[in-house]
Amino acid sequence: KKRNPHESEFHQAVKEVFDSLVPVLAKNPHYIKQAILERIVEPERVISFRVPWVDDQGNVQVNRGFRVQFNSAIGPYKGGLRFHPSVNASIIKFLGFEQIYKNSLTGQPIGGGKGGADFDPKGKSDAEIMRFTQSFMSELSKYIGPDIDVPAGDIGVGAREIGYMFGQYKKMRGGFEAGVLTGKGLGYGGSLARTEATGYGTVYFVEEMLKDQNLSFKGSTVVVSGSGNVSIYAIEKAMQLGAKVLACSDSTGYVYDKNGIDLSTVKRLKEVENKRISEYVNEHPEAHYVEGCSGIWTIPCDIALPCATQNEIDAHSAELLVSNGVKAIGEGANMPSTLEAVEIFLKNKVLFAPAKAANAGGVSVSALEMAQNSARLAWTFEEVDAKLHDIMKNIYNESMKAAQEYGAPGNLVVGANIAGFVKVADAMIAQGII
Ligand code: NDP
Repeated sequence: KKRNPHESEFHQAVKEVFDSLVPVLAKNPHYIKQAILERIVEPERVISFRVPWVDDQGNVQVNRGFRVQFNSAIGPYKGGLRFHPSVNASIIKFLGFEQIYKNSLTGQPIGGGKGGADFDPKGKSDAEIMRFTQSFMSELSKYIGPDIDVPAGDIGVGAREIGYMFGQYKKMRGGFEAGVLTGKGLGYGGSLARTEATGYGTVYFVEEMLKDQNLSFKGSTVVVSGSGNVSIYAIEKAMQLGAKVLACSDSTGYVYDKNGIDLSTVKRLKEVENKRISEYVNEHPEAHYVEGCSGIWTIPCDIALPCATQNEIDAHSAELLVSNGVKAIGEGANMPSTLEAVEIFLKNKVLFAPAKAANAGGVSVSALEMAQNSARLAWTFEEVDAKLHDIMKNIYNESMKAAQEYGAPGNLVVGANIAGFVKVADAMIAQGII
């Protein structure tokens, strides 16, 4: 905390992981001798840069860009780019730190990184988005590459932004290096099922967790926060598995539809028309719109899937979910539950799927996109989806196994942290003090 003052999100993410590692260090004193914790908590490289651009009125705007190259022990840095006004060093470092363990859990050869900018894409014209992303990539292109660091999307960065950034990278480098970014369009090196991967993966993971307790999505009620990339495909897969999704949200409020959310309306509003979720009720008068997004956790449900942003479930919301009888939580977003909220879920025996395991499907398919780019091949949707499903089952099993082995049976927070950590720590030791 002394070395990184004012980085509360980063402290939170580190505390959660390090608390889980106590039994691992007790069993493996060489990790202490090798100062693995001191090394792993320090990013290998932090890049912060000016992003100047010109808006449609001709005014010069300046944003701050970041790339945190956290850990490359098991592969090139890999992790998304976030464009949101709240972005700062703490947010990017917490996301990059989480990414180390998540990427390790996928079983793919990818290290941990994250980046972004404090740019607000809301209300910007297409031309402004293009000018901003081009300026951002002009600088970022100096530090990334298919075998160095491979960014992808995150909040505020979807296929359009990735496309503009890919174009600018190509122009700066003078060659078609398909593997430098993932989440690309299907016509120029993107992978089928990447769009669906994080949301589908979260539901596949929760399905495994439910199965172990003889529960399932079939006939369950589900609440999903957000209505972005992760949320939409979590809703889609939960519905395919027979659940009724009662509500979803955006940063201004939530919609509750007792008949079940109509996904085609949400997709059109969000993916095509770029509108607010409040517009949903214009087409579905039986549904309610409520201003303020945290109220979504007052809705009784069997399964809650927070898929919007960090710390969206605090202790109060967690208590409400528990008292309304929630059986399982699946974190689609990164760190959506505060440390206190996680404690409440675990104490009340709510099945809890932590983000770094449950939302690892996105980066897993990103790694499969890199593999397809290297091989100059394109797999079918079914092939990629089947691999994703296997990866999520494997992450669940590995996390459960580690939890059991280190004296916390059934605790997936502990299990995922340990399973992700051990592989990275061993690779760091094998590579010497660097
Ligand atoms: P999107 O930008 O597509 O969607 C984000 C959604 O969350 C929107 O509905 C947005 O509402 C809402 N939201 C964003 N910020 C806030 C906030 N501060 N308060 C309330 N609501 C908010 O992003 P993604 O779906 O890609 O990402 C969602 C989460 O999933 C993030 O935590 C991300 O890190 C994580 N994640 C994403 C992966 C991916 O593959 N995309 C992979 C792994 C994790 P509005 O439109 O009003 O801003």
